[in-house]
Amino acid sequence: MEEKFFPSLMNEDELLRLEQAYCYPAKGCYKGLVKLDIDLTPLFPYLRAVAKTLYFEPQEKIIFKYQHNGKDYKVFLSKNEVSFALVSDKDEACEVWKSLKDYLEGIWEKRSEIQPSFKPVQRPNPLEIYKLLPKTNCKECGFLSCLAFASALTTGDADPAQCPYLDNKTEKFLRETLS
Ligand code: SF4
Repeated sequence: MEEKFFPSLMNEDELLRLEQAYCYPAKGCYKGLVKLDIDLTPLFPYLRAVAKTLYFEPQEKIIFKYQHNGKDYKVFLSKNEVSFALVSDKDEACEVWKSLKDYLEGIWEKRSEIQPSFKPVQRPNPLEIYKLLPKTNCKECGFLSCLAFASALTTGDADPAQCPYLDNKTEKFLRETLS
């Protein structure tokens, strides 16, 4: 029988940590984080081929959208780490992680039927996004500056709605550009 991609993980819930996501603590915005001692990169090209990929650099990182129970999550995979956002508490994070692990395992099992893709997916330049922001550095979005917010937008670590000073047109444009 073929080996699973994810070895049987002991104390799985203990591997999972919650970290504050880039928004106000009061909003209960966290990301689930799992550090693993396996190399996740062989999975990337198959994932790139089937998932809604937001960013992909082979051998480095892949960011994709994942839906669970009708809610969208952004998932970040680097060589030894999986993280996903936004979750509101540990229970939600555990549930998403279990579902996500099954999803990734399923892709690995079906890899002989998938044409892998090594084509990078780039994110918009943060400086181009910054030009569209108010540039007051008021920090109300939860970031120290508009530039930091712009940078987080390009990696999926922030949402345009976090800046209360964007007009509807700009927010809509950012949403379309970053989706
Ligand atoms: S809330 Fe908007 S204006 Fe204020 S720092 Fe964040 S991006 Fe800049």
